[in-house]
Amino acid sequence: MSTEQIVVVGGGHAAAALCAALAEAGQGGRVHLVSAEHDLPYQRPPLSKSFLKKADEAIAPHKAAAWYAEQGIETHLGDPVEAIDREARVVLLRSGAALAYQHLVLATGTRARTLDALPPGLHNVHVLRNASDARSLRTRLSEMVAAGRRLTVLGGGFIGLELAASARQLGLEVGVLEVAPRLLGRSVSTPLAEHVLAHHRGMGTDVQIGVRIDGFEIHEERLISMQVNGGQVAVDELVLGIGAVPETRLATACGLAVDNGVLVDACLRTSDPAVLAIGDCAAFLTVDGARLRLESVQNANDQARTAAATLLGREEPYRALPWFWSEQGPMRLQMAGLLPAQPETVRRAGANASSFTLFHLQDGLLRCAESVNAPMDHMMSRKLIEAGVPVERAALADPAILLKSLLG
Ligand SMILES: Cc1cc2nc3c(=O)[nH]c(=O)nc-3n(C[C@H](O)[C@H](O)[C@H](O)COP(=O)(O)OP(=O)(O)OC[C@H]3O[C@@H](n4cnc5c(N)ncnc54)[C@H](O)[C@@H]3O)c2cc1C
Repeated sequence: MSTEQIVVVGGGHAAAALCAALAEAGQGGRVHLVSAEHDLPYQRPPLSKSFLKKADEAIAPHKAAAWYAEQGIETHLGDPVEAIDREARVVLLRSGAALAYQHLVLATGTRARTLDALPPGLHNVHVLRNASDARSLRTRLSEMVAAGRRLTVLGGGFIGLELAASARQLGLEVGVLEVAPRLLGRSVSTPLAEHVLAHHRGMGTDVQIGVRIDGFEIHEERLISMQVNGGQVAVDELVLGIGAVPETRLATACGLAVDNGVLVDACLRTSDPAVLAIGDCAAFLTVDGARLRLESVQNANDQARTAAATLLGREEPYRALPWFWSEQGPMRLQMAGLLPAQPETVRRAGANASSFTLFHLQDGLLRCAESVNAPMDHMMSRKLIEAGVPVERAALADPAILLKSLLG
């Protein structure tokens, strides 16, 4: 077994981007990609959007099998890592294979959060995290359309809301139940959460917020009904959209430091310098010394580039600007930066009633921008936030002119 190997555990966005960065540096021949999934790494965002709505849409791989072969990257699909021996620097796969490593990169992402009250294997309870979930959900949704059945989504987070909008566009009756007093947790501002609520209700989805769920009635491996706000609500099919938990079981089992994610420094090294962690599973140190874990394609891609630099012996601390997008039916949300605790907010109306941007300032600097159907505002906001220069409230009425005056 070669001792020069880089073993990447995971088959998602972070793993794919790391393979691309290492291949670009001519290091593909050292890389083993080990994924629990049977598909090569693919684009995950369409799974709750176009993939569910188009019966003939295929899973979109980042790179074809031939590319991995050309780069000398050895792929191990459908064969999860089951244990890490850090002392021997070896990972053990479910198939019994053992891979030695010089560097190990954990890119294990997250897994869907579930509820103890709902045992696994119920025929009409689903989660949406990977291609296999999406394939079976797409089939189920088309059967439901034919049978006129109702979809209940538990949880008003991004994935639950994207799925609810897709199901409405397919013609299904849809209900969303959220226990918090607002949608989208604390990841967006209150005015944006209110707009999103109105948008979904406008699409004909029965969205209820601040609900109390007291219990579930299960019969012959099916969820029959739920106790909601003291009343019995019948369930045809339920999707759990109650968030995700970082997939840290391997890291914990081999003794790495873990706390809501695998703890990494700004160069994405774990408590063992031979092991890195990137993407949704990693809780990283920001340049300000705060601990952050993000679930986004941007974060997975940018951390992969930082990790490649670390593996190639360069110290390039991770400092990329966070940004995110979500498509919920005809509404495209784009967020840049991190929402401050007490922002001063400026609203800029867009070209039509369904488009606007909320600029959130703190200490005279633009910290965050939330755009609805306003992609140019989003792109300019990213530049303005990155520039880190003082911004006048009034100047945000025209960010294009502002950007030009600030950056030339
Ligand atoms: C339905 C859906 C829609 C989304 N839409 C958006 C969007 O619109 N915009 C956006 O920015 N983000 C979106 N996201 C989030 C985005 O996809 C994630 O942030 C991104 O995929 C994170 O990349 P990752 O590589 O860290 O983790 P993942 O892409 O989740 O990949 C983790 C991989 O690790 C594998 N794995 C786990 N344990 C093991 C093991 N022991 N051995 C081997 N392999 C293992 C998993 O099987 C998986 O392949 C969406 C996510 C989902 C599920």
